[in-house]
Amino acid sequence: MPELKVEIDGQMLPLTGCYWIQSAPCGCIVALTTTTKPKGKTVKVLASAEQAHEHMVPLKRERDDESRRGYTWALVAKDRYHAELSDAWECGQHQRATTDPGRI
Ligand SMILES: [Zn+2]
Repeated sequence: MPELKVEIDGQMLPLTGCYWIQSAPCGCIVALTTTTKPKGKTVKVLASAEQAHEHMVPLKRERDDESRRGYTWALVAKDRYHAELSDAWECGQHQRATTDPGRI
């Protein structure tokens, strides 16, 4: 299988060198997945934000709800994630059970 490359901020990176992260509107990270998932003897490649979202949230109704609330997916280099973003996981205001759309 040819290695998939992606361009982030003008840099070409192997897709496998990146994570998909989902951010809440306030910028907190709420979900993360690798770009490839072992599936039996093959590998499932999550090459688009839509594929990553479908993999993480199988129910379309829930995906639509997240999109409506402004949650977005982005590809980030693993190096950058570990250097800058691994502290940015969800704040207390954005845990599912206490979501209040009026708060920021
Ligand atoms: Zn937050």
